Formats: sequence, structure tokens, C-alpha cells
Amino acid sequence: MPFERLGLKAELVRAVSARGYAKTTPIQAKTIPLILEGRDVLAGAQTGTGKTAAFTLPLLQLLSAGNPQGRHPRALILTPTRELAAQVGESVGAYGRHLSLRHAVVYGGVGFNPQAQRLRAGVDVLVATPGRLLDHLSQRTLNLSHVEILVLDEADRMLDMGFIHDIRKVLAVMPKKRQNLMFSATYSEEIKKLADGLLHLPALVEVARQSQDAELVEQRVHKVDKERKRELLSHLIGSGDWRQVLVFTRTKHGANRLAEQLGQDGIKSSAIHGNKSQSARTRALSDFKEGRIRALVATDIAARGLDISRLPHVVNFELPNVPEDYVHRIGRTGRAGEEGVALSLVASEERKLLADIERLLKRQLPSEVIPGFEPSGREEPLLKAPGRGGGRSQPGGRGGNRPPAHRAGAGGRRSGSRQHQRT
Ligand code: AMP
Repeated sequence: MPFERLGLKAELVRAVSARGYAKTTPIQAKTIPLILEGRDVLAGAQTGTGKTAAFTLPLLQLLSAGNPQGRHPRALILTPTRELAAQVGESVGAYGRHLSLRHAVVYGGVGFNPQAQRLRAGVDVLVATPGRLLDHLSQRTLNLSHVEILVLDEADRMLDMGFIHDIRKVLAVMPKKRQNLMFSATYSEEIKKLADGLLHLPALVEVARQSQDAELVEQRVHKVDKERKRELLSHLIGSGDWRQVLVFTRTKHGANRLAEQLGQDGIKSSAIHGNKSQSARTRALSDFKEGRIRALVATDIAARGLDISRLPHVVNFELPNVPEDYVHRIGRTGRAGEEGVALSLVASEERKLLADIERLLKRQLPSEVIPGFEPSGREEPLLKAPGRGGGRSQPGGRGGNRPPAHRAGAGGRRSGSRQHQRT
């Protein structure tokens, strides 16, 4: 559908056209009119569906119709990761370029004071990760008592990352009467509970999951011995002359090691994960986007929300513990109508993880053995595929094991370098 038909202001339509979007994506066509009507919305949509514009455009329109002069934010967009916050902030700036609304982005890992100054200067739309947002609240550099619209972006990921207590603290300092928009790729019991408490008579919007969209993504499994995976990956990249491949590992340490090893094989690579500084992550991402490195090795959380679209190749160097993460990972390829290939290197110990993924996809993935890399046929002990809660709470994983001081909301200003995200 053309954007003009949604009832968006000319200024917004102009900004959207400048981005090169000719028509809406399904989530945009369904969600934008509901938000413009003032409804609360619960939307099931993953990264890559155009969900950011789906909430940003109507949010900007509603705010531009109100009083823009106050100092305190009138819309708050919460995101689980810094990268996503930065990207949403960029979208707010781009879509709002012909309006006179002010926006700011606050997240951890970078200086506190410049953010405080920015907030003091006055902001209409604030994009934030929960930890740093609470820092600003406790320092009184931020006042949320004028928020009219709240967006929880990737709400499922926020819960997975243990942000529920932070979210509740933030909710407690906002006006009760406001419009609430919640976006989530999955609907767990926890998400339903949060939605029940937060949303008032919400409109439910669902768009096709990427697993069902996946005909543009060619998926293949290469069974191989664990100790030969790195060699096989280098072979695939080299023989296929791949210029841009996103590689997923299960751990930060594994990501570092693999990026180093690929480098030794002559394939320029970087690792991206939560132990890296924000500037190192940003640099790795821009090197990758601009073709200075061929392989970006990432953990699931670090990759989540990265706006890297239309990737020709995604490789699961190791299968994820949680089958839904497989769908997120392969959603990186074949976006916006482009074809992509998603390969999984699967060792004997991962056969149960593969079975779980195939059950979720409701089909078997085609499997191909690469000549010279035939598996030995040894049955290795199974890698555990922990259940939802357990798997997501493991140390080094993405659990709710935040520092106790944080959970207790320990009043004073917390260090700006404290990690709000564990990737
Ligand atoms: P998102 O799901 O918000 O992360 O968006 C995924 C990608 O789709 C981003 O690169 C957007 O710039 C792009 N995008 C968003 N809306 C549209 C549209 N209507 N047409 C084409 N691309 C879009």
C-alpha cells in the first residue's frame, strides 16, 4: 500500500520516500492506522519486517499534532540493546527530518554527561535501553511524567535479558494514562503477562513469521565433525568467494577465537559481542557493511537488532540453544526480496538441537556433506538444549543474572561503564 493512503502527514511521506520505500510492508499497513487512532497495540513482528517505521511514523505524527515545546519526553521507546537503540534513534531522526520534534538516544557504555546535557536541552522522543534510562532517572537528569506514548521494542528480548524489573520501575514513574505499543517476535507466557498488565484493550497485529517467509532463504545443513568446522567454513568462504558472511557462534569466547582463526586463514574478520566496547562494535559493523571485512562473527544477542539487511550468506557455525534464535539468525538473509543462503554446520553433538529446530520449522532441512569433510560417524554426547528459562539464564548467556545492586535499584549513580547487556 502507498504510504499516502495511511493518513500520514506529507512531511512524513516525504521522509519515507527519501529513504526509497515505495510502499508499506504488511506490519506497517496494519499497525500505522491503529496507532494513529490512539489504540494500544500488541504486534508480533521480527526485525526485518519494517517494524521500526511501523511505530515511529505514527508516533511522530501524533506528537507533531500536540505541543512540542515542553522539556520532558512525550514518547519513550525502550529497546533491549544499544545497537537497536542507536538504529531506532537514527530512524526517528530520518523520518522526523521535516518535523520540528527533538529526539535523543541514551544507552550504557558511553558517557553519561553528554546524554544528561542533551536531555536537559529538551526532548520529545527518547530512545533508551532500560539500564541507562534508570541511571538517568535516579540522577534526576530525566523526568518521564509527561510520557504520552510508550513503545516496548523487542519486548521478548528484553524479558530474556532480564530487564523485567527495570521495565516495571520505568512504568512506575510514567503517567498511567498513555498509549502503549508492544512489539515482540514471540509470544511466551511472560510476554502475555506483561501485555495484560500494560496494554489497554490492545489491537493485535500479527505478520507472517520469517520462518514462513523463508522461501527466499535457501537453508542447508552441512554435517561435519566439530573439530573440522573452522576448516570447512574457510573452505566455503574461499571456494564460493563470499564477500560478506555473518557467522553465529554460541559464546563470546568462541566468536573471538573463530574471528582470529579466520584471519589466520586470510579471511578478514571481526567478532561482535557484548564484551567489546561500543566503539569496537560500531567499528566492526561499519567495516562489515562497507566491505572492509568479509566475515562478522557474532553471538545471538549482539546480532539482534543489527540493521544489516540483504545479507547473501549467514552461517550457523554452532546451532543456537533456543530454536527460535535459528529463525532470527536466518532472517538476516534474503530480506526485502533478495535471495540469501543460510548454512548450518552441524556436529554430531548438536543433532538434538537440529531436531528441535526442524520441529519448529515443521520440516526437515536439506542436508549435504561437503566432499573432503565427511563426518567420522562418531556419536558424540549430546549438547544440552536447555528449556527456555534455563537456557536463557546461563552465565555468559542472556539470563536474568544481573548484578544484585542493579536489581535492588541501588539508588546512587551507577558507573557508566557497567554493562547493561550481556551478550
Ligand atoms: P526493521 O524491521 O524496522 O528493522 O526494518 C528492516 C529493514 O527494512 C530496514 O533496513 C528498513 O530500512 C527497511 N524498511 C522498512 N520499511 C520499509 C519499506 N516500507 N520498504 C522497504 N524497506 C523498508
